[in-house]
Formats: sequence, structure tokens, C-alpha cells
Amino acid sequence: MEERKFETDAIRAQTDRTQYREHSVPLYLTSSFVFEDAEQARALFADEIPGNIYTRFSNPNNTEFIQKLCLLEGAEDGIATASGMAAMYISMASLLKAGDHILASRSVFGSTHQILNMIFPKFNISHTYADVSDPSSWEGKIQPNTKMIFVETPSNPALDIIDLEWLGKLANKHNLILNVDNCFATPYLQNPMKWGAHLVTHSATKFIDGQGRVIGGAVVGKRELIKEVRFFARHTGPSMSPFNAWVLSKSLETLAVRMDRHCNNALQLARHLQSHDEVLVVKYPFLESHPQHELAKKQMRFGGGVVTFEVKGGIERGRKFLNSLKMLSHSANLGDTRSIATHPASTTHSKLTDQERAAVGITPGLIRVSVGLENVQDIIQDIEQAISNSK
Ligand SMILES: *Cc1c(COP(=O)(O)O)cnc(C)c1O
Repeated sequence: MEERKFETDAIRAQTDRTQYREHSVPLYLTSSFVFEDAEQARALFADEIPGNIYTRFSNPNNTEFIQKLCLLEGAEDGIATASGMAAMYISMASLLKAGDHILASRSVFGSTHQILNMIFPKFNISHTYADVSDPSSWEGKIQPNTKMIFVETPSNPALDIIDLEWLGKLANKHNLILNVDNCFATPYLQNPMKWGAHLVTHSATKFIDGQGRVIGGAVVGKRELIKEVRFFARHTGPSMSPFNAWVLSKSLETLAVRMDRHCNNALQLARHLQSHDEVLVVKYPFLESHPQHELAKKQMRFGGGVVTFEVKGGIERGRKFLNSLKMLSHSANLGDTRSIATHPASTTHSKLTDQERAAVGITPGLIRVSVGLENVQDIIQDIEQAISNSK
């Protein structure tokens, strides 16, 4: 039989039904599960048999969500977490110890920078940043104590693309764990495991939820690594709530159709802005002008739902532009049905220094638009009027 396609797996990968034979997955809002007898309780705690004990360890909704995500990512096993940052943190903290070193892309999410810069040094875990624009420098930055490579592609908000096939080979050559934050692409657009990644991390808050409702995250990957991550999570407690898992599992069913529209709208917006007199730079992975356009086309199905651009006139114009928007939301989320505009320099990446921001491509007037599912003509029209009214 031919392998089932992504859209079908996202909808039909199904768990057991209860005695009621419900069509949709029920919500298991329970903190613990009842043992059959003393022997079963012992065997469950000894990991001799599968089953649920306590929702901090596992819950049918979390299992259903994560098994589906694993199938879509091509991963062996995984764990759902309370937020994307919990996923980033435990994917590193569970597998590293004092004295270890991480080679990280400089283009990573703001809070990931804070973990590397401010939190891990307390535990004597060090890092070196490498630049996406200079791949030849990466191998020389690997130290004898380097254990992991952490990257984000496309990155938030610079939309830098990293060659996953090259990085997979580099990681395997040096016996390092390759950990990829796949939040912007989602499993529909890109599967890092296919290119040699060992772990894939997600903020499920963004396009996976897709409707701006819940916070969540996931770590998926190689079985032996996830075993360590699961042990760490079970005892430190960053588990996803069953309600959020239930919401997110339903969201996966519509991920493909939503991403098709997000990507289509984003490409049309990017093309429109590219020829605009008042716009300095437009960045979008599937625009021919993107510096890593060929690479994006090689490893991604479409270009994603985020476009960045710089309106002429620097930080002041950027602020005026945001204040002139009538329909687009000015909010700190992305991946919603509703288009959202953000100013990274004063919000998500405000904790970085000017120099650090410049190094990751965040210019003072940079605007990030998470292109929603509204009619693209209405999105373009609102952005047009805000450009005119912010002069
Ligand atoms: C939002 C985001 C995160 C953090 O996820 P939360 O769910 O907000 O904790 C991590 N990485 C990327 C690329 C993100 O966009």
C-alpha cells in the first residue's frame, strides 16, 4: 500500500475509542488514573507495562497529540510541554551537564538567547554563536566538549534559512545532537529529521494551534534521546495540560489547509511590498530576492506565514506604521488566523543589546507580519493605508 499523505495522517491518525465510540477524541480532564490492583500499580511504576499513572507523567490527550506530531515529523517518540520555551529548555537541559558546550545559531528566538546567555552559565553550560551567513565558520567553533547544535530555521524574526542537510552531516561527523526549532515551518512545511536532525522542538502556540488560543510546545526525535527528556520532564514538571493537548490535536487536523493559505497570502503580500517605494527591504523565504531562496525551496514545501519588511524612516516610522494599522492586530503572537504586526526591536527581542539585535538582522524599523487567513486583498489594503498614513 502506498504511504498515507500528510493531510490524511493529520486527520486519521487516531487513538482508541472509549466504550461510547465517540467520533471526536474526548477530553480526559483528570489528574490521576485508578490502578486495577496493587500488582498493576507496581508494574506501572516499574515501567514494565504501558499506561497512565498521573497527568504530570502522561495523559491520553497528551499522548494522542504527541503521537500524531511524531508521525507528521517522522520522529520516533516525543513529549508535549506547557510552552515552546519549556520544550527548548528541557531539550537542552535534560541532555547536557556542567562542562558541556552548545554551538548555537545566532538567529534564535529571544528567550532561547536568554537561556543560553543568562541561565545555562549558572550551571556551567557554555555556548558559542555561529552566523547563518557564514557556514564555513561553524565547524571551527566545535570544541572537544561540544554536545549539541541548536538552530532555528526559518528564524524568528530574521527569516534566516540554515541548510539542514549540511548541518545534519556536520552533527553526525562530530557525534553531536542536532536540535532544530521547527516552529516557523511546522511539520507540514519542513521535517528536520529527514535531513539528519536528532531532535525537533516546537512552540505549538504558533501555527500548530493556529487560532491564538493556547500555549504549548513539544520535543520530538530519536527514541533514546526522548527517554532522557521524558525522565527530566517527569520529575521537573513542565507537562502540557490535557485541555491544551486536546485543542492542539484538533488543530493538527487543519494544519495543512491553514498553512496553504498562510503561505499563499504571505507570498502575495511579500510580492506586493517588494515593489513599494516606501519599503526598503522585504524578506520572505520564497521570494527570489531572499539570500537563501534556493535553500528554502530545497528543504521547505512553501515559504511560511511570516513576512518581514522595513518601512523607510527608521524606528519612528515603524512605530507610526503600527499605530496606523486599522485591521491588523498589534500583538506579540504569531501563527493566528488573524494577521498580526509586531516590532521586534521594542518587544520580543528588546532584552538584547543593539549590537546583538543587529547581528541577528533586527534593524530598528523592522516590522514582522504574521500573515493570517483573512482575504489577502484586505490585508494588503490595511498595510497600504498604514504606510500612507505614517508618512
Ligand atoms: C514563540 C516561539 C518560541 C517560544 O514558544 P512559547 O510557546 O511562546 O513558549 C520558541 N521559538 C520560536 C521560533 C518561537 O517563535
